[in-house]
Amino acid sequence: MKEFAYVRAGSVEEATSAYAAHAGARYLAGGTNLVDLMKLGVEAPAALVDVTRLPLDTVEELPDGSLRVGATVRNSDLAAHPLVRDRYPALSQAVLAGASGQLRNAATTGGNLLQRTRCPYFQDLSKPCNKRDPGSGCGARDGVHRDHAVLGHSAHCIATHPSDMAVALAALDGRIELEGPEGIRSVPATGFHRLPGDRPEQDTEIRPGELITGVVLPAATAGLPSAYRKARDRASYAFALASVAVVLRLDDGVIGHAGLAFGALAHRPWRARRAEEALLGAAPTRAAFEHAAEEELSAAQPLRDNVYKVPLARNLAVDVLTRLTETALTGRAS
Ligand SMILES: Cc1cc2nc3c(=O)[nH]c(=O)nc-3n(C[C@H](O)[C@H](O)[C@H](O)COP(=O)(O)OP(=O)(O)OC[C@H]3O[C@@H](n4cnc5c(N)ncnc54)[C@H](O)[C@@H]3O)c2cc1C
Ligand code: SF4
Repeated sequence: MKEFAYVRAGSVEEATSAYAAHAGARYLAGGTNLVDLMKLGVEAPAALVDVTRLPLDTVEELPDGSLRVGATVRNSDLAAHPLVRDRYPALSQAVLAGASGQLRNAATTGGNLLQRTRCPYFQDLSKPCNKRDPGSGCGARDGVHRDHAVLGHSAHCIATHPSDMAVALAALDGRIELEGPEGIRSVPATGFHRLPGDRPEQDTEIRPGELITGVVLPAATAGLPSAYRKARDRASYAFALASVAVVLRLDDGVIGHAGLAFGALAHRPWRARRAEEALLGAAPTRAAFEHAAEEELSAAQPLRDNVYKVPLARNLAVDVLTRLTETALTGRAS
């Protein structure tokens, strides 16, 4: 086993300084993904900077009505928080749809967003993978790719992003807060994860040494009907084959706001802007929902073995839009 240094940070400044002081460092949160990857030999950090003791473990309401979730809030606590359940049900449902109870007790908000793809070639050192070993090729493209991307993939990588939480954050117009050597910044959740292009080794726009300090959910989507639905191979824990998060507002019987994001279809949560455009101002009918989903998914380029994802995603979107319309009209979740 490769030796590594271990530093337990007590403040954000201590964490970022320790990271800067150790070449090849990684932040360690719940460890539910990073430690697995270390055991597989995919990750071999020279130092682990433990961030679990940082004072970032609360959910707080900000004066403008938005909600700030600290980076070390555990997935279980986030899903169960009354303000999250009440104002952003899609987020609570997405987190609960991920992993198992034990894993959610350990996993954190920041770690969930930065977990790596579950492409089996990425996790197998004996196989080519441009994400793990740039330039080595992509084993999945002509190999096993039933779970892989249908939108936004490249010749270099067809992986999907595995986080359920990230899909809900994209639909809800969440923002990711970061602190690092160049200071503090906040990026929209929709722009945090990347498409693979010719640099699949880079999953996100995070800069070297930056720490996720929290996630902010805006007042604008608070309290709107929202929901998350995930299709997977088994009812107990499994990663999504396709998923959808939707936020909907009806104004005088027509759609006044629709935020829609697909999961497990691309290298990042896929905010469905074309579908949203088609929905805006339309009456909330099944025909309008089908048309909107088809507008978005007409850009899909499925691979040999994952054509099924396109109708699956379409049906999930139509189902969730139908249920949310019922909620918006009656005030009751259907
Ligand atoms: C069997 C299994 C099934 C799962 N199923 C699902 C699922 O269905 N849906 C789903 O969404 N997830 C699923 N997960 C993933 C699980 O939710 C993640 O492993 C977890 O969220 C990662 O969180 P963590 O705190 O343990 O991160 P860690 O493993 O500690 O870290 C993950 C990455 O994030 C970095 N990191 C952590 N915190 C920060 C921070 N604050 N700032 C900067 N970098 C940071 C680490 O350096 C590392 O690169 C599953 C995991 C397992 C093992
Ligand atoms: S899809 Fe991406 S992660 Fe999977 S083998 Fe190809 S390059 Fe690697």
